[in-house]
Amino acid sequence: MRVEIDNRSGFCFGVQNAVKIAENALLNGERVFSLGPIVHNDKEVERLSDLGLISIDHNQFSELRNCKVLIRAHGEPPETYEKAERNNIEIIEATCPIVKKVQSRIRDAWISSKADNGQVVIYGKSGHAEVIGLLGQTNNEGILISSVDDLCKIDFTRPVHLFSQTTMDAKEYRKIKELIAGNMKAAASGSQEISFKIHNTVCGQVSNREPHLKEFAGNHDIIIFVSGRESSNGKMLFNVCKSVNPDTYFVSSVDEIESSWFSNKKFAGVCGATSTPKWLIEQIRDHISKL
Ligand code: SF4
Repeated sequence: MRVEIDNRSGFCFGVQNAVKIAENALLNGERVFSLGPIVHNDKEVERLSDLGLISIDHNQFSELRNCKVLIRAHGEPPETYEKAERNNIEIIEATCPIVKKVQSRIRDAWISSKADNGQVVIYGKSGHAEVIGLLGQTNNEGILISSVDDLCKIDFTRPVHLFSQTTMDAKEYRKIKELIAGNMKAAASGSQEISFKIHNTVCGQVSNREPHLKEFAGNHDIIIFVSGRESSNGKMLFNVCKSVNPDTYFVSSVDEIESSWFSNKKFAGVCGATSTPKWLIEQIRDHISKL
């Protein structure tokens, strides 16, 4: 059987950057804690843990003193930095520069919204690490919407600044924008237009992969999509492949591959999420080639 890897799959720039920062810190022989798993991929977390990276949660972070803690690509709210300062913790900053920029734009919008009784609305997944960091920029006063059902949380008679988590689906975000615009227009009918500022914060590293993956999935008999189960862009990009090629399978490791999937198949494609390491995609390609 022929097996082809999608060359555009693998870590996005932000994750690559964070992993590199971690590897450099570990090379110096330092003890490094990572606040949350550095990437939504268990295999890569295992690899870095073998090099000495210790993943901790926020409760464990609260107990730490006088050490170094890495902030992963998703970023953190301001209170994490304040706590670090109080507890003499040195932060190793690995927040993706794109997320950092979104955080600062949200902060600016929140400050300016004070003057015109506006609202900062964030389209994202409840409880997602990046979203916690984004909401933190508004002192948790921002309005989180995760689906159309949450639009009722917005007061359409007041100004709105709209942002999205960087890994949300661009099409869904467009739909949300249109619905808010329609509701605001209706609320303003007859009176002065209400300000609605839309910030395009879906990351191109994810949205640009969609059309390419559709083509890739359509050109193969079977697709093996490799990703951690916690990865939100992994779920989204898997569905993109599945919508084009029903013979698409989600796996997190070699052990999950079943040889029966490949009967009567001649050309397999292997691809993954922005949090899937290239070495894992290659490992899976080598495994399938031997079936
Ligand atoms: S998806 Fe984009 S914003 Fe998110 S970590 Fe990767 S490069 Fe940064």
